Amino acid sequence: MPEGHTIHRIAKDHTKLLAARTVRVTSPQGRFATDAALVDGRVLERIEAVGKHLFYFYDNGLVGHVHLGLFGKFRVTPGPDQAPVVGQVRMRMASEAGTVDLAGPTDCSIGTADERDAIVARLGPDPLRRDAQPEVAIDRMAKSAQPIGQLLLDQRVLAGVGNVYRAEALFVQHINPRRAGKDCTRAELTGLWDTVAAMLRQGVKDNRIITIDRSEFPIPKGPARRGDTTYVYHRDVCLRCSSPVQTVELGGRACYYCPTCQPR
Ligand SMILES: [Zn+2]
Repeated sequence: MPEGHTIHRIAKDHTKLLAARTVRVTSPQGRFATDAALVDGRVLERIEAVGKHLFYFYDNGLVGHVHLGLFGKFRVTPGPDQAPVVGQVRMRMASEAGTVDLAGPTDCSIGTADERDAIVARLGPDPLRRDAQPEVAIDRMAKSAQPIGQLLLDQRVLAGVGNVYRAEALFVQHINPRRAGKDCTRAELTGLWDTVAAMLRQGVKDNRIITIDRSEFPIPKGPARRGDTTYVYHRDVCLRCSSPVQTVELGGRACYYCPTCQPR
C-alpha cells in the first residue's frame, strides 16, 4: 500500500494537470459512471491529500474521494489529447493538460464536503500537513497499552504511515515495536513523530523511500532493490550492526526490527 508521501506527491502531480481547469470525468469501465456524471464538465478547484486519502473539490461543491488501498493505481498521461483506455479504468479525469486514469481503488466516490469532513475526522494528524497537531497523535500513543508498532500503523492515531516508515522510524529511535505506547517517554514519542515527519517529507522529495542517512551509508548504484535504502525493513541483517533482523506481526503486517539496536 502506498504510504503518505506517495499520496501527497500524487496530489501535487494531479494539481498541475487538473486544478483550476474544466475536467471531463468519466468511467470507461462503467462502475463509477453515475458518480462521474455529477461532476463531469465542472471546474476542479483543488486537490487535497490527508494521510492515504485524496479529495478532489469541484466548483459545484461536490468532492471526489479516492483511497487507493492495496491495488489502486493512477496512470498519468500529459498532453491535450485523451490517452487510449488501457485495462479497467474506474475513473478518468481529463483536462486540456492531461489525462489521469484510476484503476483498482478501494474507494472512488463523489460526495459532499460534510462527507469529506467525516472521513478526515476519523483520522489522526498527518505529519505532512502544515496544520497537523503533533500533540494529538503523541497523546493518543502515550495513553495506549497497545504496542507502539501497531499504533504507528493505526490511521486514527496518525495518518499516512505505512509498513516501511513505521519500522524505520522505530529503528532510528531505538524503540522495540512491541513496547506499549504508554511505556514510551514523551521525548521518545515526540522523537518518533519528528522522525516520521522528516522521513515522509524526504519521501515526497525523492518520490521513493530512502530512510538511511546518506552521509553514513551511500545509496547503492543501479536498479533499486528492496532493503537497499532502509536500516531494517525487508533486510536479512541490520544495516548498522549486522544482527539478523527479526519480524513481529503487528497491525496485521510484519514489523521488521533489530533486536540488538532496539532491545526494548
Ligand atoms: Zn542493529
